[in-house]
Parts: sequence; structure tokens; C-alpha cells
Amino acid sequence: MISVDDALSMVLANAPRLPSEDVALADALGRVLASDVASDVAMPPFDRSAMDGYALRAEDLSALPTVLHVVGQVRAGEVPRGTVGPGQAIQIMTGAPVPAGATAVQQVEKTRGLDGGRRVEIVAPVEAGANIAPCGSEVREGDVVLAQGTVVTPAVTAVLAAVGAARVTVSRRPRVKVLVTGDELVEVTEKPVAGQIRNSNGYAVMAHARLAGAEVESLGVGPDEAERIAVAVEGGLDADVFLVSGGVSEGLYDFVEPVLLRLGVELLFTKVAIKPGAPLVFGRRGRALVFGLPGNPVSAQVTFELFVRPALLRMQGATAVSRPTVEVEIAARVKNRSGRRAHSPASVKWEAGRLLAHPLRSLGSADIVAHAKANALLVMEADRLHAEAGERLPAVLLGDVLSS
Ligand code: AMP
Ligand code: MG
Repeated sequence: MISVDDALSMVLANAPRLPSEDVALADALGRVLASDVASDVAMPPFDRSAMDGYALRAEDLSALPTVLHVVGQVRAGEVPRGTVGPGQAIQIMTGAPVPAGATAVQQVEKTRGLDGGRRVEIVAPVEAGANIAPCGSEVREGDVVLAQGTVVTPAVTAVLAAVGAARVTVSRRPRVKVLVTGDELVEVTEKPVAGQIRNSNGYAVMAHARLAGAEVESLGVGPDEAERIAVAVEGGLDADVFLVSGGVSEGLYDFVEPVLLRLGVELLFTKVAIKPGAPLVFGRRGRALVFGLPGNPVSAQVTFELFVRPALLRMQGATAVSRPTVEVEIAARVKNRSGRRAHSPASVKWEAGRLLAHPLRSLGSADIVAHAKANALLVMEADRLHAEAGERLPAVLLGDVLSS
């Protein structure tokens, strides 16, 4: 049995880097940048007014109120005509270039127009430089504004747009094929009868893979029959990542491991010291990575989060591949009698100045309803048998952790 950390290292070391492709900016959300992005413009591209008001010389305001002559107007998108001399001001709009001679912009709320706009009374002082964003103060032309390995978020999209990246160089999506095994499984559209359950893993795993940037194909549900599994597995091994759920434990009808071996998959580990999810199989054939995920639905999702998602992100060249782990205070006792590193579902909230984790009552690795309420997994090492309310534990944050 291999440790969680060693297992992850082995997965990452075996994840091949995918080639890059160019996509339209509007299609880049969630993709990973395959090269650094430099700006072809300075930001701002000129000395820009941050306010609607008057461009003036700050030194003209030594006595207040002061009346200045308004010698022009400049709107966003225009080039200023004329300059600001002593005793003068130019009316200016937010986003417009500041005229030569002006050293500050006074906001319109601190002024009073006189003579139908030909003069303006300034009623409050401004410091030199106030309300002017100098040319290149945010970004200089040629600066790298986004690093390779960055995931494209909406905020990153804004930067890409501003630097003219109509097409974005990103890593190709990993192609993932998913096979689900189990004689007891029926389709979502069916009502299970005695002994049957619906296939939830297939859908959960495909959803997780999509969120990690993959292009996913379902190979459907296969029975617990070695020959049929072998045919389906062979059809999955042309993917970048082949995921098979179920059939990896020690049961009489768990055929996945021997089938993988028979088909020439090199198995790099077959058991991890983790709870839930110990029977996790990882191997490769050629460039294809193979994960045999436990059938237990929570185990399948937890092992996906901890091992498959990092692999998919590493293949895309992402800088950060694992979910963040933070230290939280626990609101109630949690136990770990597994002798392995345990992950238990919790709802983490920001309360009274600290992250407080409320352990969720889970009936174990089939309890998908408890898992769906969790935004974090509390981590307890093998030798830690319990932790009491008020103690601190590491927590792996899942998804949008503090939004509820
Ligand atoms: P296995 O790993 O095949 O022994 O399955 C372990 C447990 O997970 C059994 O209770 C299975 O019924 C259940 N299980 C396996 N595959 C799925 C699936 N695709 N959806 C929901 N439950 C599953
Ligand atoms: Mg099974």
C-alpha cells in the first residue's frame, strides 16, 4: 500500500504534457494558458483621467476657492486640443487623456461652473497627480501580464481582451473515456428493482473531468464479466486518460485489475493508504493514463479530486494542480479508525474570524448526499485517531468554498 503523497507524485510524474492549440477568446474560459502572454500596449495607454472634472495645474490652487478659465473640453476617445496654462482648466471626462500642462484632475463634485461653463470655481484642493493614472503605470508595453500555466478565469479573460488576444494559445483538452462496471447498475432513466442501483459514478466522474478541462466520452456500463470488460477497456485505451469505475477491489467478480494487466497496462500502484478509496489502481499504457477508481461513489469522487484532477491539470500544464489545503478549526469531534489518511466531509464557513468546519454526518463511502453538502474534506493522518471540537485540522477545499 502506497501513501497518498507518493501516489500523487507518481501520478504527476507520469502525466504527459499535452500539445497546445489556439482557441477564440470567448471559448478560452477554464482552459490553461500554454505560453506567457505579453501586452502589446501600455496600460493605461496615455495619462488617463480617473474622474469627470477639470484638468488643471495643482499649483494654481494655493488659495481657495479659485476661479479658473475653462479653455476646452476633452471626452473619452478624443485627443486633447490645447494645453492647460496658468489660471486655466480643461473640462475632462473619465477615461479621457489628460491635456499637456495639467498636473491633476479635480472631480466635478468639488467644482462649480460659472458663466455658462466659461469659468469654473474650484472649492477643494488637489495634490499634483490626483485622479490621473499615468501612462504605463499598470502595465508597460511588452510586459508579461499572464504566465503560462494560468487557468483562464473571467478576470484573466479581461486581461486577454485588453492585450488583443483574439485567439489564445491553450493546452489541448485531455480526452477522457469513462467506463463504469457493475452487474447491479442500471441507467438513470430506469427505476432500480431488487438488488439494483442507478449508475451515479459515471455521471459524477464525467462531470468532475469536464470541470477539470477534459473532453469526455462515456463508454457506458459494462457487466462484471472479464471478457466484456476487456473489450470495453481496449476501446478506452486510445484516450489520454481512461477511467474505469468499480471492480477494483478483492471481490470474486472484480476483474478490472487482471484485465488491465492482460491488455499490457503497466500498473504503478493498486492500493493507496487512504480513506475512502483504498482500492485505487493507477497505470499506463503508452501515453494513456489509466485509473481504476473504486466503485463506492464517494470513494470514486474523492480519489478523482485527489489524483485524477491533478493529473488532468498537469497534462494541461497548469501551475496549481491540487485543491488548496487550509487549516480549519473543527466544530465537533471527528474520528479516524481506518489506519489510513482519512478524508471526511465537512461544511467550512467563515465564522467569528476563523474558518470553522462543521463535520457532516456521513454513513460512509456510499453517502453521496452527505458528500454533496460538503465544501471541504477534513484530513486526518493515519496515526491520529480523533480530533476534538476546537482543535485544528487541515482541510482540502472543494470548489467554491466560502460562497454559501
Ligand atoms: P465495487 O468497487 O465494484 O465493488 O463497488 C463498490 C460499491 O459501489 C458497490 O456497492 C457498488 O454497487 C457501488 N457502485 C459501483 N459502481 C457504481 C456506480 N457506477 N454508481 C453507483 N454505485 C456504484
Ligand atoms: Mg462492482
